[in-house]
Amino acid sequence: MVLDAGRIFCYYLFMRWFVRKEKGIKSKEKKPIPDGVWVKCDSCGEILYRKELEKNLWVCPRCSYHFRISHKKYLEMLLDEGTFKEKDGNLAPVDFLKFKDYPKKIEKSMKNTGLKDAIICGEGKIEGMDVEICVMDFKFIGGSMGSVVGEKVKRAIYRAKERKVPLIIVNASGGARMQEGILSLMQMAKTASALNLLAEEKVPYISILTNPTTAGVMASYASLGDAVIAEPGALLGFAGPRVIQQTIKQELPPGFQRSEFMLKHGMIDMIVERKNLKKTVVTLLRHFLNK
Ligand SMILES: [Zn+2]
Repeated sequence: MVLDAGRIFCYYLFMRWFVRKEKGIKSKEKKPIPDGVWVKCDSCGEILYRKELEKNLWVCPRCSYHFRISHKKYLEMLLDEGTFKEKDGNLAPVDFLKFKDYPKKIEKSMKNTGLKDAIICGEGKIEGMDVEICVMDFKFIGGSMGSVVGEKVKRAIYRAKERKVPLIIVNASGGARMQEGILSLMQMAKTASALNLLAEEKVPYISILTNPTTAGVMASYASLGDAVIAEPGALLGFAGPRVIQQTIKQELPPGFQRSEFMLKHGMIDMIVERKNLKKTVVTLLRHFLNK
């Protein structure tokens, strides 16, 4: 009787294995994750549900890591619904130096972002207040600043000056665009001097720094705001850490060039979490406009 029970159990195990094999079920196999439903946090490695992450404005609920988001999301987040009117959307870059693969890169970035260059500019309203706004998109050749980006920023500054409405720029950039050589570098002087005219007219300018805002953009219009706000943990700076380390021949402190370090050293005015960004901009605008 005992023997029979043992045989039956063995038979059961065999059949179970056989059926699973026939069905293609492998032991310990994980269920495949449907593409695009889950996202891994770049900072803490947590697997996050995309819809939840979207609801949380692409900020990791576990470690508060701020994911990089598109220009569209910043416009949605900051402006009153349906108030954005794009300006200079037809300006597109030209490969005047015949730089290797530049046209290909432009074409690819245009497809990826729906933009003609690394910035979108226009007018809109924030809590009913008129603003000129520009938002950079890192997906367009690393948010690099060539002639078009510089020209669009300058025109936005001039419009803000003419209309006497505040200017807001959301920055995300690796710096000047090497494929446009010296003309990229000239945009630094052009935008900085235009901002000086804005200051003379006492028109406020709020600069928002997102991850990363570096090099030629950080060294020109991004750091010249009447208020400079950064998202937490953003990489901010001019030269990269390796170049600095080689130049000064010293070890760099931990957290060097992150928002928190820059705040501590007086390079920025405040760090604001994404969920509080609009609220903070509204408070600042009301303060600047005496409302
Ligand atoms: Zn995380």
